[in-house]
Amino acid sequence: MINFTVGPVQSSEAVRAIGAEQVPYFRTAEFSQLMLENETLVKKFAYASEDSRVVFITGSGSAGMETAIMNTLTPKDKAIVINGGSFGHRFVELCELHEIPFSEVKLPAGKALKPEHLKEFEGKGYTTFVVNKHETSTGVHYDMDLISDFCKRNNLFLIVDCISTFLADPFHMEELGADIMITGSQKALACPPGISVMALSPRALKRVEETKCKCQYLDLKLALKNAERGQTPWTPAVGILRQIHARLLEIKANGGVEAEIKRTAALANYFREQIKGLPFEIVSESLSNAVTPLHPTTASANDIFLKIKDEYGMWICPNGGDMKDTIFRVGHIGALTNADYDKLVDAFKDLQKKGFI
Ligand SMILES: *Cc1c(COP(=O)(O)O)cnc(C)c1O
Repeated sequence: MINFTVGPVQSSEAVRAIGAEQVPYFRTAEFSQLMLENETLVKKFAYASEDSRVVFITGSGSAGMETAIMNTLTPKDKAIVINGGSFGHRFVELCELHEIPFSEVKLPAGKALKPEHLKEFEGKGYTTFVVNKHETSTGVHYDMDLISDFCKRNNLFLIVDCISTFLADPFHMEELGADIMITGSQKALACPPGISVMALSPRALKRVEETKCKCQYLDLKLALKNAERGQTPWTPAVGILRQIHARLLEIKANGGVEAEIKRTAALANYFREQIKGLPFEIVSESLSNAVTPLHPTTASANDIFLKIKDEYGMWICPNGGDMKDTIFRVGHIGALTNADYDKLVDAFKDLQKKGFI
């Protein structure tokens, strides 16, 4: 199978080889050293400030989203939540669950965030801005300069879910004034699922200090205290943290984050060129390098997903809910090559020849 979904994605050989090894005991100086290197490399690749910190939470990306909300926001906050799809909706539900007052900017599927969407919130006593930089469900990549300017002007605490865009599109945490950056191990980090990575600005660290977290397992005070010595409060997904280490070193050796973003952009552009002439429409106003969301004009998206899986041995990424039959996505993160896309495009062309699409 070739995997073109947006997570879990394909891992490099070095990362897979670690998955086959015994999981070592972790309360050791060696594992602490590895964790401190993980922190340094994530900080570097996120362009976080020197006095930022990074923690690794055992759980998928959503654990990082909930950890951020529970550890830095309180009912005294007033948040703006961008909701352009299922991941934005998840933040809405998290604010409801944790009783964080909020207003929602609801964007229709595929639509970009524009200055007029934010105008009514200017100078209205909001404290916090919560956004998924890339709304993976619809493939819309938001304008972070617009968001950053708005937050700086209104002195807002800025939580950014970068789960599918970290390492795929540019992100400069310090310049943007972002306070929390969240990513997950199974997206562009191209490791198995199970670890959520969070970078925290000094302002975020202060909020953590001042906020009572009503969950012991996801209490960032404990995670940060332990991370000072390269450890975690509980047994983490040790094997995945070792794989993340190998992957971060791989990116560093291949030219760093800029080179990785360039590589991903090249794959995305190659695929988008190759599908010209096929009965697919790109349905996002603002694309990330991580994924191409497509509307097939002549067949059901889900039927195409099933055909490609069952008859051609490849996974493209289906959509759920009311987009099940109208949209599928093709991912560009993970260990993929142009030759992989040639196979996918050949399969699409074959389906076209057979009159299926
Ligand atoms: C994948 C993803 C998540 C996290 O999903 P998990 O299944 O919990 O890992 C959150 N936000 C975005 C934007 C994502 O792409």
